Amino acid sequence: MPLHKGPAATPSEPTSRLALNPFFGQANPVGGMTDAPPRHRLPDGPLPPASAYQLVHDELMLDGNSRLNLATFVTTWMEPQAGVLMSECRDKNMIDKDEYPRTAELERRCVAMLADLWNAPDPSSAVGCSTTGSSEACMLAGMALKRRWAQRNADRYRAGARPNLVMGVNVQVCWEKFCNFWEVEARLVPMEGDRFHLDAESAAALCDENTIGVVAILGSTFDGSYEPVAEICAALDALQERTGLDVPVHVDGASGAMVAPFIDEDLVWDFRLPRVSSINTSGHKYGLVYPGVGWALWRSPAELPEELVFRVNYLGGDMPTFALNFSRPGAQVVAQYYTFLRLGREGYRAVQQASRDIARGIAERVEAMGDFRLLTRGDQLPVFAFTTAPDVTSFDVFDVSRRLRERGWLVPAYTFPADREDLSVLRVVCRNGFSADLAELFVEDLKRLLPELRRQSQPFTHDKSAATSFHH
Ligand SMILES: *Cc1c(COP(=O)(O)O)cnc(C)c1O
Repeated sequence: MPLHKGPAATPSEPTSRLALNPFFGQANPVGGMTDAPPRHRLPDGPLPPASAYQLVHDELMLDGNSRLNLATFVTTWMEPQAGVLMSECRDKNMIDKDEYPRTAELERRCVAMLADLWNAPDPSSAVGCSTTGSSEACMLAGMALKRRWAQRNADRYRAGARPNLVMGVNVQVCWEKFCNFWEVEARLVPMEGDRFHLDAESAAALCDENTIGVVAILGSTFDGSYEPVAEICAALDALQERTGLDVPVHVDGASGAMVAPFIDEDLVWDFRLPRVSSINTSGHKYGLVYPGVGWALWRSPAELPEELVFRVNYLGGDMPTFALNFSRPGAQVVAQYYTFLRLGREGYRAVQQASRDIARGIAERVEAMGDFRLLTRGDQLPVFAFTTAPDVTSFDVFDVSRRLRERGWLVPAYTFPADREDLSVLRVVCRNGFSADLAELFVEDLKRLLPELRRQSQPFTHDKSAATSFHH
C-alpha cells in the first residue's frame, strides 16, 4: 500500500461519506443531520461534539482488543493513577524546558535512574535523553557512532570511505531505517541452523576500518532471545589486540534493558562492559508505560559528540537536548517517572518475573500438545517462538494464527530472514496485564482448535505474505 494514499472513492460515491444515525442529532433527530460529513475532505461546517465523538468512537470499534494482542511488546495496561497523571500532562510540550521545569527535572531523574540501573561507571556523568521510542533512540545512538567514526577518520571519510554498521539479520527494522536514512552500509550476519541471532565470531569477522559500531540486541524481536553481548565485546577486544581496530558496541535493549536488570542480575550485558558505548530501551515496552517513550544513554559525555547536542532555554540558562523531533508530549516521561517511583526495583522484578513465569508456563504447555516445536522457551525475554513439529503436514503456523484470531487472539506468524527463510514461526509476547487467567484461556483456545486443524487435508493459507502479521 502506498504511503498516505488518497481517497479510493470519488466524492459522489456513497462510501466517501460517513454514515449518520438520527440519534446523533441534538433535540430534533433530523435537524442538522441531513448533510453527512465527507470521509476524505475537511467538512464545510462543524458538527456537535457528541456526534463527532460518536462517529469516531464507532469507527474504532473494529480495532483489535489491545489486551489480547500477543503480537505487541508495547504496554497495553497501566494503572488508573498513571492515566490521570498522563491526562494532567497531555498539554505539556517536553521541549519547553523553561516553561515546564519540573517535567524536565523528572526526565533527568529517569536518565539518572537508568544510568545507575545499567551500571554506568559514573552515573552522574552518564548522559542520556528521552525519545518517542527506541527507534528514535537508535537513530540518535547510530548518529553518535557515525559522527565519532567520521571524526576519527576525517581524511578517509572525505576521500569517499563508506561507513558500515555490523549487526544480525534479526535486527529490528529501525536499524535498516537508520542505515538507509544516514547512508551507512548495513552489514548483516545471516541466521544459521539453530542460531537465530548475532554471534561473536561473525560480528568480529565483518568489522573493518569503516565499521562505526556493532549493534547487539538484548531481546531479539524474532524469538525473544538475548544476543551474547559479553562474548561480542570479548571478540571485539581480541580483534583490537590483533588489528588495532577499536569498534564500539551499542546495545539495543528495547525490551531486554528493562527485563535483564531485574530478573537476570548475573548477566553482564550493560555499561559494566567497557566496550558498551550506548544503550537504548523502550519505556513503552517492559518499561511499562503507554506508547510514546524511549530512552538513549551514553556511558560518558565522550561517547556523544558535543556538536550533535543542541541547547534550549532553561531557567535563564540553557539545557542540552538531543532529539529528532522538537515538540513532543511530556505525559509519557511523567508516566515513566511515576512507574519508577511506584514499582522500584522490587516491583519491576515482581512484574517481569510474573511475565516470564507465564511465558515459560504457556511454552511448556504448547510443547506438551505434541503438534509444535519450541524455538525459545520464554526464559530470556518473556516471549517464545514455536513452529509446527516436523511430522505435522495438515496445517501450518499461518493456519494457527488465522484460527486463533477467530477467538480474538492476535498471534503473528511470520517467516524468518536469511538464511532461515525455510522456517515459519508463531510468536507469543507476554506482558504485564496478560494474566495467568488469560494465559489459561489462551491455552484452552489453542487446544480446542487442534482437532480441527489436524483434520485439514493440507495447510490452507496460500498467500503467506498476506497472512504474515506485523511482528516487529
Ligand atoms: C521495538 C524495538 C525497536 C523499536 O522500538 P520502538 O520503541 O517501537 O520505536 C527497536 N529494537 C528492538 C530490539 C525492538 O524490540
